[in-house]
Amino acid sequence: MALIVQKYGGTSVGDPDRIKNVARKVKAAVESGDQIIVVVSAMSGETDRLTGLASQMQTRPNSREMDVLLSTGEQVTISLLSMALHDIDCPAKSYTGSQVKILTDDQHTRARIKDIDAQKIQHDLDQGKVVIVAGFQGVNEKGCITTLGRGGSDTTAVALAAALKADECQIYTDVDGVYTTDPRVVPEAKRMEKITFEEMLEMASLGSKVLQIRSVEFAGKYKVPLRVLSSFKEGPGTLITFEESEVEEPIVSGIAFNRDEAKLTVTRVPDTPGIAYKILGPVSEANIEVDMIIQNTGTDGHTDFTFTVHKRDYDKALEILQETAKAMGAESVTGDDKIVKVSIVGVGMRSHAGVASTMFETFSKEGININMISTSEIKISVVIDEKYLELGVRALHTAFGLDAEQAIQE
Ligand code: ADP
Ligand code: ASP
Ligand code: MG
Repeated sequence: MALIVQKYGGTSVGDPDRIKNVARKVKAAVESGDQIIVVVSAMSGETDRLTGLASQMQTRPNSREMDVLLSTGEQVTISLLSMALHDIDCPAKSYTGSQVKILTDDQHTRARIKDIDAQKIQHDLDQGKVVIVAGFQGVNEKGCITTLGRGGSDTTAVALAAALKADECQIYTDVDGVYTTDPRVVPEAKRMEKITFEEMLEMASLGSKVLQIRSVEFAGKYKVPLRVLSSFKEGPGTLITFEESEVEEPIVSGIAFNRDEAKLTVTRVPDTPGIAYKILGPVSEANIEVDMIIQNTGTDGHTDFTFTVHKRDYDKALEILQETAKAMGAESVTGDDKIVKVSIVGVGMRSHAGVASTMFETFSKEGININMISTSEIKISVVIDEKYLELGVRALHTAFGLDAEQAIQE
């Protein structure tokens, strides 16, 4: 008998029939002899709908109240799924995050899990029940409801799998696995049988929202076997593996992109020691995370300084930067929130030269201007104009031999 955590995302529980479909899948797993913990998201669109309501009440909604509001989405689906399971004679019990004590820190709307009380869940499992837990939510020491950031149900599932030492954590979604890139943007994308944990971590952090980054970090830390599968179609899905394969890895395994960033530039900053700190210090004090950073070598004692932040922080960062620029005697502050970051990822890049030049050549042939570049051992990211997103990703997908048809011929 194995212990499996199954997580069903928003589309998978998007309407009553789909919830009944999930109930049938869960029952089938129970009948095959496994113990099942189910984590569910809110019905698709519900978290956005609630966010929209909040913004009609307050320009920047109070984050504690936001969590009280957002957590209702998942509370609806746990109870409905439990009813659907009872209806087909499968014993089940639903719990909110605070009822099973998913203890988090105090950072409302992006809390981190600190501990999970596994006892109650284990007790129900031992009594032959399916345990259904609301994804995306927890409770802090003070008893306030917290949420884990968008896409956070993935993290709930992996954290439960780690806490209960599950044999596998299965993430059921609306695609049948992890693809070489988002199949909604590149129809030629192919499903991967396996992806290394390291690559999945990069893909998630660079914008592939098929798994929330924290869930992948959690899986890495606790060595949770993780698989992405479809709720609607049978199949093996994609296994996130901890071993690098024996055969030579493809140079580029996948392409990720992120539409959520904006870039800011301070021009003609006096080039003196400490400018990075002077510019980024106030930004980080305002709790704004910075992603890519570029500082040019100074000419005539001045330099330009560019960095990217999340789009939601763009206005605030611009405001802060204007103050800083004035104080530093810089020329001006400019910004652009119509950009995307496109990244190629692959552990095979470690042992191959020339990958970057293939990427740049591809963009050059398509007439796509590159604004920023950053590299690490297993990824190269560039910032380009958002209107070139699809063209750029498709061109790279072909250039690195990832298109489905090409792969079959190899
Ligand atoms: P859920 O609601 O089930 O959590 P998400 O929308 O969060 O589903 O994640 C699934 C979506 O992730 C897919 O519909 C797909 O558009 C997108 N996606 C982005 N990159 C990839 C990728 N590399 N492989 C598969 N899906 C991807
Ligand atoms: N319902 C939340 C969201 O839409 C959490 C999740 O689906 O994982 O972000
Ligand atoms: Mg998701």
